Amino acid sequence: MRTATDYRALPLAGECDVLVVGGGAAGVCAAVAAARNGARTVLLERNPFLGGRATASMVLVLDDYTDGQQITVKGLATEYAERLKAVQGAVDIPPEAWTPENRGPDSPDYDLWASWGFLYYFVPEPRPLTYAVSFDPEAYKRVSEEMLLEAGVKFSLFTDMLDVVKADSRIVEVVARRRNGLVRLAARQVIDASGDGDVMAAAGTPFVHGKYMVTLVHRYGGIDIDRWMAFEKQHPGHAKELNREVRSLYGGSWDRWWMRTTLPGVVWVNAPHLTGYDAIDSEDLTQATLEARRRIWKAFEFIRRHLPGWEHCYLIDTCAELGMRQSRLLQGQYVVTKDDVFNGNRFPDSIGMGRNYHMPYRSMVPVDVRNLLVAGRCFSCEPGAQRSAREIPPCMVLGQAAGTAAALAVAQDVAVQDVDIAELQRRLRKDGAYIV
Ligand SMILES: Cc1cc2nc3c(=O)[nH]c(=O)nc-3n(C[C@H](O)[C@H](O)[C@H](O)COP(=O)(O)OP(=O)(O)OC[C@H]3O[C@@H](n4cnc5c(N)ncnc54)[C@H](O)[C@@H]3O)c2cc1C
Repeated sequence: MRTATDYRALPLAGECDVLVVGGGAAGVCAAVAAARNGARTVLLERNPFLGGRATASMVLVLDDYTDGQQITVKGLATEYAERLKAVQGAVDIPPEAWTPENRGPDSPDYDLWASWGFLYYFVPEPRPLTYAVSFDPEAYKRVSEEMLLEAGVKFSLFTDMLDVVKADSRIVEVVARRRNGLVRLAARQVIDASGDGDVMAAAGTPFVHGKYMVTLVHRYGGIDIDRWMAFEKQHPGHAKELNREVRSLYGGSWDRWWMRTTLPGVVWVNAPHLTGYDAIDSEDLTQATLEARRRIWKAFEFIRRHLPGWEHCYLIDTCAELGMRQSRLLQGQYVVTKDDVFNGNRFPDSIGMGRNYHMPYRSMVPVDVRNLLVAGRCFSCEPGAQRSAREIPPCMVLGQAAGTAAALAVAQDVAVQDVDIAELQRRLRKDGAYIV
């Protein structure tokens, strides 16, 4: 963070009520919620498209919608699913496939829905089916753009937030790099939805620097999926050996290393899982990307040679940006703990749920900066808690709450620390949020 004097010569490119940095799951929901609640809203995104991990890192399942029994993640997260389905850009599990009697491994379509990755991962094997949504990344980009445009959000792609200018514990301006140079933007409230906490770091508020695995998601096409699944049933021992070999070539993957996509004969692979890399260090990200691509080609050559049904498969793409799961985490007014996430502890200032855990408003509020909220995977929590509390729909819940709270803070002319929680919860419930 530098002083206003350092940046005085830069042009003032605009001013707004709420400025959102980052156009991923949390940022788009934050901006849509702020604008729908009456705030003049601007969103900055450094990539040439929206979506963050959901598109740039091709994470293709909206997970953690349920507590294993019922849908607990609602509001804009539901709207996203509906809008993706409306443009034929998503597949979800029909209600009859995950009734209480019909969600275990003996249910008729268990293998089919499990192959989409629609499993409740937070209980031991055998994992039951759950509600989840598989989506196409191009549809996700389209829906995100439409939601922002309809809400009246002014958004700039190709725009990197670099620094902030502060006065009296408030951010008064954000400095951004556009393709044609540096600019200043003035805002009354700022939301950090950058995933990596770029704004909070620039603002000098406390955070911890967490680390978790990184992954270069990729897609294969030209697969006879039914043939492979039939082979797995007929020759379980041999299939197990082949699966084990694929996983070992990747050197880190979940047990089910591939998942169906909305495109016929196309799967996505959430591997390799690489550990020990820093998700905000360009040198580490470069090395991890190279290592991941090397392993993918090795695995691909084995898969094509040895797996029945995969003989004609081809590598469609690796994701544009290595998938980073964790980096900076706010240490705000409340730090969500592993115990909170695993035991579902309740909070009086809850703004919604992720899966089976509750999220307090204070987990987005810095201890000091008066007009900054931090939403999405960089919210205030212990690194161990974030590993199990960072899926896309819960990030949407945080984003929606941050946008609504920022608009409220503008309307009532108060600091984020003084937002009226009862009014925030009332507005969120009116907009479809599930708060208990
Ligand atoms: C490999 C992998 C697999 C995963 N699997 C799943 C899964 O199956 N299901 C699921 O639901 N979740 C999954 N997750 C988790 C989930 O994808 C993320 O936690 C979630 O998408 C984070 O959303 P976000 O909006 O908080 O951050 P991000 O998606 O990271 O979005 C941040 C945005 O801010 C932009 N940005 C960053 N810095 C700046 C800056 N300085 N200026 C301007 N813009 C900036 C970025 O370009 C990005 O668009 C996975 C994650 C990874 C990496």
